[in-house]
Order: sequence, then C-alpha cells, then structure tokens
Amino acid sequence: MMNRTEAAFTPESVTELLRREGLRITRNRRGILQALFESGRPMSLQEIQSAASSHEGARCSYYEISDPRKHYDHLICRSCGSVVLIDIPCPIGDSEKRIARQYGFRDLSHSLEFFGVCATCP
Ligand SMILES: [Zn+2]
Ligand SMILES: [Zn+2]
Repeated sequence: MMNRTEAAFTPESVTELLRREGLRITRNRRGILQALFESGRPMSLQEIQSAASSHEGARCSYYEISDPRKHYDHLICRSCGSVVLIDIPCPIGDSEKRIARQYGFRDLSHSLEFFGVCATCP
C-alpha cells in the first residue's frame, strides 16, 4: 500500500492536476469533473493521477473522466507508460470525413495512439 498524502480534493485542484498532466481543460471536461464530484465517488487525486500516468488500465480510467463521444488522440510512452492527450488540431479530421463519405458511415469517431519515448525517459 502506498503512503498517500491527501491533497485538497476539489474540482479546482483536479483541474489543476489535469492541466499539469498535459490535458486541455475544456468546459465540457470541467463539467464531467463536476459530475464526478457530485456523484460522490471516492477517488483521491493520487488515484486519478496514477490512472492517468500508469500503464494499461490507464486508458480505461482516462475515458471515465472524458466525454466518450469525443475522440482523443494520445501520445503514449513505451518506456514509462505515461499517456498525454495531444493538444493540436486532429491530424486526420479531414480523412475522417472522407472515410465516412466513402463508406457510408455516419457519426464517426476515432482515437489515435502514437507510441514513443517521452522527454523524461532516458
Ligand atoms: Zn516515459
Ligand atoms: Zn484525432
């Protein structure tokens, strides 16, 4: 069991944490955070933080605090497993429209994963 220091657990502090983790804080995400808080589900900042930066289960946990109807493009470190949301306009947004048209699909979504080695890993 890890020794935990409980930080103030408010929507503001979590927003600040997510910002530090490289997530863009949209009004929508803020709303989802708010909802998480209102649901009263017990999660410490540390749990959210480790969910956002540890391997494997990380991405599932991610989606719990994301809008599942939006797509998120990620950078994933092969070495330490940290996951960073990519904060640039989607590189394949136009392709998505073209694919939808060509295959007769609507309401497309996607999630790109770029694998590499992050700046903090040797
Ligand atoms: Zn890394
Ligand atoms: Zn994308």
